[in-house]
Amino acid sequence: MYSPVKGARVSSRYLGGFRSTGGHSGIDFAAPAGSKIYAAVGGRVISVGWGGAYGNLTKVQHDDGTVGYYAHQSRFAVKAGQRISAGSLLGFVGNTGNSTGSHLHFEVRRNGKPTDPIPFLNFDGKRTGSLSKEPAKQGGSFATPQGGMLPDIIQMTDPNDTLAMLEAQGMGASPGGKAAGGFSTPALDAAAGRPSEQTDLEQSLGREAGLIQQSQMMKAMQAQQAAYQTSMMQATAQQAPAAISQGSHSSGGGASGDLGKLINAIRAKESGGSYSARNRHSGALGAYQIMPGNIASWSKAALGYSVSQSQFLANPKLQDAIAQHRLGQYFRKYGASGAALAWYAGEGALKYSEGARNRKQGSYPSMNSYVQDILRRAGL
Ligand SMILES: [Zn+2]
Repeated sequence: MYSPVKGARVSSRYLGGFRSTGGHSGIDFAAPAGSKIYAAVGGRVISVGWGGAYGNLTKVQHDDGTVGYYAHQSRFAVKAGQRISAGSLLGFVGNTGNSTGSHLHFEVRRNGKPTDPIPFLNFDGKRTGSLSKEPAKQGGSFATPQGGMLPDIIQMTDPNDTLAMLEAQGMGASPGGKAAGGFSTPALDAAAGRPSEQTDLEQSLGREAGLIQQSQMMKAMQAQQAAYQTSMMQATAQQAPAAISQGSHSSGGGASGDLGKLINAIRAKESGGSYSARNRHSGALGAYQIMPGNIASWSKAALGYSVSQSQFLANPKLQDAIAQHRLGQYFRKYGASGAALAWYAGEGALKYSEGARNRKQGSYPSMNSYVQDILRRAGL
């Protein structure tokens, strides 16, 4: 058996089935992020783009009728429709989708069902190109960058980004959602510190299942956060007004230039400038429509202390200060359009494919159309 990533080691072998049922639908090759991925088998690229739990995914139609999946990539090197041969550069190893630690998940499907990929990785002497001729190393003592202690589904995204994403998809978690639990994790891989993922047939149909599970978990975390926040609120209630009035973060029209224009455009689009706005579906609050779960941490970051939801809603200056701080960070990191994208769909959205950004999000506009509208309003 040979590896489509040079020097990679097998961190998780094919077991049949899917992660959610204790199986594994492909072979995982652990390798540093950015390592080159070579096609194991020739054929034609079917699609290149976001594959839900598979992260950035390239699907290749093999000449024998099977389909190859190359998952969790950081970047692509081919386009849909392109003819490739064994050994062609396909893309680069990453950690996108439901994945812990950078690795390639290689999967082969026959009639839509996963089949053992090993026959597709046996170098037969006829293939050309750079498919690694070194036998793939078996076993996995590969340490994930994150330490590999948490199940994939937790590490997949920043909780806040996940909620923003749900919101962007018009899937705002239902109020009082169920507590965490019931989701399966690749506990074995995680415990062994091996890169792995929760690739699953249902999840391959979309991110929904995974995100709903996550949203339930996030709800539970938020409930804890809210309880903590309430207890903190008494302690900070006294200092809040003083800090606001003298705080250097206080906005009151502090931001100028392009950042100021961006902030004004986002406020106008999100709420029409209504500081008491509440979104009945998503629960987002205030003039900038910030998710309740973000208020405590974002206010802490902007002001040095956490504020409650009611304090937040009652105080326009507070909202300005928090939005200005957060948007300022995004703006400096990503520029105006990247900041608008992060505001709408979370910082994780910066890594999404064009296709994902162009898709309409349920009853909500696509990420790209949101960004375009913000830039137009801001005159940027
Ligand atoms: Zn895998």
